[in-house]
Amino acid sequence: RKSSPGSLGGGGTAKDDAGVPGRVRVAVRLRPRNAEESAADADFADCVELQPEFKRLKLRKNNWHTDTYEFDEVLTEFASQKRVYEVVAKPVVESVLDGYNGTVMAYGQTGTGKTYTLGRLGEEDTADRGIIVRAMEDILADVSLETDSVSVSYLQLYMESLQDLLDPTNDNISIVEDPRSGDVSLPGATLFEIRDQQSFLELLRLGEAHRYAANTRLNTESSRSHALLMVHVKRSVKGGDLTHSSQNGNTTSMAKSLRPTLVRKAKLVVVDLAGSERIDKSGSEGHTLEEAKSINLSLSALGKCINALAENSAHVPIRDSKLTRLLRDSFGGTARTSLVITIGLSPRHRGETASTIMFGQRAMKVENMLKLKEE
Ligand code: ADP
Repeated sequence: RKSSPGSLGGGGTAKDDAGVPGRVRVAVRLRPRNAEESAADADFADCVELQPEFKRLKLRKNNWHTDTYEFDEVLTEFASQKRVYEVVAKPVVESVLDGYNGTVMAYGQTGTGKTYTLGRLGEEDTADRGIIVRAMEDILADVSLETDSVSVSYLQLYMESLQDLLDPTNDNISIVEDPRSGDVSLPGATLFEIRDQQSFLELLRLGEAHRYAANTRLNTESSRSHALLMVHVKRSVKGGDLTHSSQNGNTTSMAKSLRPTLVRKAKLVVVDLAGSERIDKSGSEGHTLEEAKSINLSLSALGKCINALAENSAHVPIRDSKLTRLLRDSFGGTARTSLVITIGLSPRHRGETASTIMFGQRAMKVENMLKLKEE
């Protein structure tokens, strides 16, 4: 198949590679109207209108004013899961297979389709499969399990506490940042090697069950926590055989065998963020203000980092939260990053929708420098 879109081809080596500029890509996805909205909003105008052919979104402010925004991709309520995968995640997955770190992240108000977009298993109907399942299918189809390895860890971050969804008894995870490469690792996190799609699906189900149990115990909802799936892809490649475009090239196998073998270790991080609504607005949640602040800490820290990066500010407050430390490579780092922001049509949520749109607009200004992860 073709090499990743963008200018990743060409096969430079890691040592002399200064990196390839790669802006954070942002798509907006509109969730179809649900029954509750159909009833409650029947007499009111939708708060957004999409113009996918122009990659534009119009946000209605009131009867007289609309604001227009452009995104890298505008996905209507009719966009299939397959199309969403191809637009949002596939280029990132292909980069990971080529040896570059990648991040796919969903941001939006609770109920707008983040988990649907990322996490659907599609057990009843395979057309429903979300990004995570499709990504692993593409990864397993491309690697050779004799020489390569694929392993997964699955975590939840709630009130600045990192939980291992593959082993709830594990409270031994730390976040370690390599100051030179900017890479982040999680020593102590359970890592499962994946050999086929079936065992991956079982692992996801196990993780979901642990997440549900943990949230019941903590008396919270999954919308209050961030879920992070990390897929580590380690591949052996012959030197010079550096991109998918060159793999099918006309180098003879004799010439290839003379080259040293290199190891590429790239990581795909898929992040289902906590709901972006401000939970301290409502007194009925049963949370004290302190809890509300703590629950929002990571998400607001992420917003501040993205603002700082978008404005080229000298200080980016990466160290303010665990989420921003975990994602330091994804924003202003060396990863290829794709963000999908999810929204609904309801005018009752205009404020939340507007703030989601602004988050997406600022993220589009963040520049990364993609670098090959090769030893
Ligand atoms: P979030 O993770 O943002 O809280 P969910 O993914 O749980 O939201 O979606 C909320 C509800 O809307 C779920 O019942 C989900 O099945 C449904 N839904 C979300 N997106 C879509 C879509 N594109 N098409 C059909 N149903 C959707």
